[in-house]
Amino acid sequence: VLGKQEKDDDDKADEEEKTFLDDEAYDKNTLQQQRRKLPAYHAREELMKVIAENQVVVVIGETGSGKTTQIPQFLYEAGYCKFGGLIGVTQPRRVAALSVAKRVSEEMNVKVGKEVGYTIRFEDKTSPKTRIKFMTDGILLREALLDAELDKYSCIVMDEAHERSLNTDILLGLFKRVLTRRRDLKLIVTSATMNADKFSRFFGNAEQFTIPGRTYPVETLFSAIAAQDYVASAVKQIIRVHLRSEPGDILCFMTGQEDIETTCEELTKELETLIKSDPSIEPLQVLPIYSTLPADLQSKIFRRSKYRKCVVATNIAETSLTVDGIRFVVDTGLMKLKVYNPKLGMDTLQITPISLAQANQRSGRAGRTGPGLCYRLYTKYASLKEMFPEPIPEIQRTNLSNTILLLKYLKVDDLSKFPFLDKPPIETINTAQYDLWCLGALDNFGKLTALGKKMSNFPIDPALSRLLIVSSFSQFQCSKEMITIVTMLSIPPIFVRPTHDAALQRRSDSVREKFQVAESDHLTLLNIFNLFKANGCQERWCTKNFLQYKSLRRAVEIHTQLSQIMGSQKLAITSNPDWDVIRKCLCASYFHQAAQFKKYGEFVNLRTGLQMRLHPTASLYGLGDLPKYVIYHELLLTGREYMNYVTAVEGEWLCEFGEIFYAAKEKGITSRENQARKEHEFQKVIAEQRKLIS
Ligand code: ADP
Ligand code: MG
Repeated sequence: VLGKQEKDDDDKADEEEKTFLDDEAYDKNTLQQQRRKLPAYHAREELMKVIAENQVVVVIGETGSGKTTQIPQFLYEAGYCKFGGLIGVTQPRRVAALSVAKRVSEEMNVKVGKEVGYTIRFEDKTSPKTRIKFMTDGILLREALLDAELDKYSCIVMDEAHERSLNTDILLGLFKRVLTRRRDLKLIVTSATMNADKFSRFFGNAEQFTIPGRTYPVETLFSAIAAQDYVASAVKQIIRVHLRSEPGDILCFMTGQEDIETTCEELTKELETLIKSDPSIEPLQVLPIYSTLPADLQSKIFRRSKYRKCVVATNIAETSLTVDGIRFVVDTGLMKLKVYNPKLGMDTLQITPISLAQANQRSGRAGRTGPGLCYRLYTKYASLKEMFPEPIPEIQRTNLSNTILLLKYLKVDDLSKFPFLDKPPIETINTAQYDLWCLGALDNFGKLTALGKKMSNFPIDPALSRLLIVSSFSQFQCSKEMITIVTMLSIPPIFVRPTHDAALQRRSDSVREKFQVAESDHLTLLNIFNLFKANGCQERWCTKNFLQYKSLRRAVEIHTQLSQIMGSQKLAITSNPDWDVIRKCLCASYFHQAAQFKKYGEFVNLRTGLQMRLHPTASLYGLGDLPKYVIYHELLLTGREYMNYVTAVEGEWLCEFGEIFYAAKEKGITSRENQARKEHEFQKVIAEQRKLIS
């Protein structure tokens, strides 16, 4: 549960590279040779003809056939940017956007950020010269808010559409309108074979184009018994492959950063022991890949290596990234999935079985360059019993507050009329509308309020954008501090806690205590950011204090960007270093996540009655007595429910700002959640009646 140390020590990484890599870097020739070998390259003429003749084309092709890297270049070379138009390519994942932009700029022999660039949240590597722009689908959705016609684009490639990410689904719905108004805009939807027909039908039987591919047979082996510990089983299987089998790289699918790191550590340890006892055993280059891994470490998976590679990845390696040379796949059959938990009222990441379609996709990764082998760490019986045929689209399993706020901004007032590829459950829409109503973003009739309008301009969660806006109100005037706090809540954990050395661990804990402001984790974050700046944003200072330098550097950038948005929204940026005012302001926006003291370390959610614990690293432990009331930023689920980032507040403040939820009684605060829900329902009925009359 403690902030994890990211292994991104640059110097160490470089040293490793020298031992593993041939000195020879890719030169331009070999890149062009590689390009020419791709199936997409051979289909080029026909594909471009179909694109020229149709406004919408669904392109289907095996993973690794060159859809992502080649199609944008084909469009560019065919002159689709001639009149200043951009080619926009969306990716459901940040890592993919970044890595593909790098690859394409290498192939085109330009610097990233010039002709080829990328934009992900809080990071823009494009310039006026940029013609091919890779971005996350979330970024394009944000751009659609500012320019509904997407005028600067001549072509849009919706890549990896089969993933059915929430933002991709919403964009597809928006495109239905845009395409009729902008006949000159080309839309190319790329998809693995699953779902392709669905996309075609959605766009009025749009043309399909299949890139002929070649794949080799992959033999699939199921486990005879279910794995008890999937990390241990995977490590065992990888070692077995490495010791016994013929050459070829290994790809192992895990669920996320934590189990990937453990797998990598254990693999490395095991191998060291083995090699010690038998020096003839070859080393294995173990490489992790997950979305929050620093970019320089990510790109290592693509570099050539003297030794056999073993890439340990999340489902990012299912379709969005292709590592050449994989002959063996080790599949845990699991993934982390964002699922809305109605009991907690929030999205949680849960480890769940993958779908059958994904299992096939994973094994297919072994058969790209020759026949391959896939070891499934689950039984055939389990796959038939526990796996869905297809993945469930994100829109049907996550909280939709953010999305509905955006749609309302785009004047989609009647959500039942929006062309969803698959409709979200009506309860999810209702919950989201209720939550937005509670935050004051929607009025009693489901329409966007002035506050809601302002909120939708920030690329952050509704509660956080509300916090920024509220902080500029005359009552608080602490927006400068609040921008810092929101920034610090938007970056990966900043605390480094050494995992192996107990003495170092104690030292890092005592340094952390030094920074803590007892009443509030939020104020602690503010304190650290201010000290980082006061100390000249130095890496040395961070290392000395067990803080993540890279995260804090990023915080400085995000701070600037959020300040710019505040400016563009005509929100005053004023400083108010009074900590009590800042706590009150936090309460004014986070009253919906409040809890009451129960016993030491334990609290009860004021609205739901859910028992929650104070996180072991909470600043509040620095107070002699724990406060009666707190607000929290999020819940962490690690066996138990932990509140993460907690601030002490006064009961009066909760009643003042959260009057829809709480009433003051003699003994303390009581919940009036049911009443609030009824009020909301009642207002909805009125809204319906209004609609009928008008
Ligand atoms: P698709 O989108 O059809 O899955 P891609 O265009 O992503 O295919 O990949 C085509 C080829 O380019 C693959 O063989 C892959 O190995 C290679 N490739 C893609 N990205 C990179 C990268 N960042 N570094 C090295 N090779 C890459
Ligand atoms: Mg691709």
